[in-house]
Amino acid sequence: MSSKPLGTGSPALIGPKRTAFQWLTTLTVVSLPFLQIGGESLLRLDLPSLTLFAFGQRFPVTDLSLFLPLVIALTLLFLLVTLAFGRAWCGWSCPQTTLVDLVEWFARKIGIRVKAGVMSGRIVRKLILQLFCMGLSLLVGANLVWYFIEPVRFFSELARGELHWVALLTLAIVASVTYADLALLRRLLCKEFCPYGRFQTVLVDPGTLTLHYHPSEADRCIRCGACVRACPTGIDIRDGYQIECINCGRCLDACREVMARRQQTGIIRYSFGLDGHGPKALLNLRMALVGLALIGIVTGLVVAVTQREPVALKVARNSELMPRSIANQQIVNFFTAYLTNRSSVPLEIQLQLVNQNNDLSLSGPVKLQKIEAQKKMRLDFAIQSKAVNSSRPRPVELQVSDASGQSMTHVTLYLVQPMDKHD
Ligand code: SF4
Ligand code: SF4
Repeated sequence: MSSKPLGTGSPALIGPKRTAFQWLTTLTVVSLPFLQIGGESLLRLDLPSLTLFAFGQRFPVTDLSLFLPLVIALTLLFLLVTLAFGRAWCGWSCPQTTLVDLVEWFARKIGIRVKAGVMSGRIVRKLILQLFCMGLSLLVGANLVWYFIEPVRFFSELARGELHWVALLTLAIVASVTYADLALLRRLLCKEFCPYGRFQTVLVDPGTLTLHYHPSEADRCIRCGACVRACPTGIDIRDGYQIECINCGRCLDACREVMARRQQTGIIRYSFGLDGHGPKALLNLRMALVGLALIGIVTGLVVAVTQREPVALKVARNSELMPRSIANQQIVNFFTAYLTNRSSVPLEIQLQLVNQNNDLSLSGPVKLQKIEAQKKMRLDFAIQSKAVNSSRPRPVELQVSDASGQSMTHVTLYLVQPMDKHD
């Protein structure tokens, strides 16, 4: 709220900080697929195996016990960031804004005039700009594909002309849509079509970070219009909060520069609500509920990941071999075990019966088996036992253990009396 005179130095601008942040996020998004941990991309969704590789962890998409909490956690994080920082995402991190900023920067560099998103200049310069947009769009398309196919494989398959047609089609569609956006829509997309902007108006909270022209200081405004000229979406922040505002802060810098010449502070500021509570304005019920839910889900997810058994075991009754009676009032039940090595190293495993009575025996390839990292294995086995009560299946505990007999996971099976009457 201060209107005290400034010194004669340049005002502190946030534009360079915003640009640095945009570069940081852009380089992170572009380089993530190139970075590896444990021989695998830092972040990649492998479609053939339906596995999400994220920061050294593997999340099978089909394993909803892990994947669902992960999706919920990301959604809650998105909600929390939106509640706290509003459309700061749009102005500071959104790839759309960064790409349009880059296009506008390039346009100015080659002598095209840019005003509130509208470009005017010679046709040759506009053609050069279109080529720049095409190159940028291809990079965006390829970058997306790298989150599914490792960049090294992508380039080698592309060079040999063996890149899968789905990858090529994805690249072509994303590049075309991006080009249409950069060539035709640009800021119009943020103003009119972006669903996040509409979504944000529902979420905006009295404590959310927004840019404000402080009405209490309106008498200091010299009506120079610098804030309006600087605005990429062409709005006037003095009219109050508007859905088109992407929180980029250009009006703030423009006002600071104008007012600095008069040795005064700017009138436009970022603030958490209008009441001057600062970040304390974020201490409200909505933030608390979303924050607590996020902490709960993330804690559960961390526990689930750290406690997760290295081997997944599913057992089904062998559909081709029915339970059968054999000599000496013995019966045999046939099963198939489906094992998955979830870890990143090969494992030696064996199947064992837990607390087995002397009348039970396990047969089949149940002794030590090597199962490669992230691979599946099928084992057909049989359990021989004495006859069981035909109305009460007998529960039996089967475990997967390592070479030393240490249990990795277990499952309960039920032995049933055969339908035949040979006993
Ligand atoms: S009003 Fe200010 S913060 Fe909002 S879009 Fe325009 S320049 Fe950016
Ligand atoms: S830049 Fe500042 S002084 Fe100039 S019109 Fe905008 S709010 Fe008023």
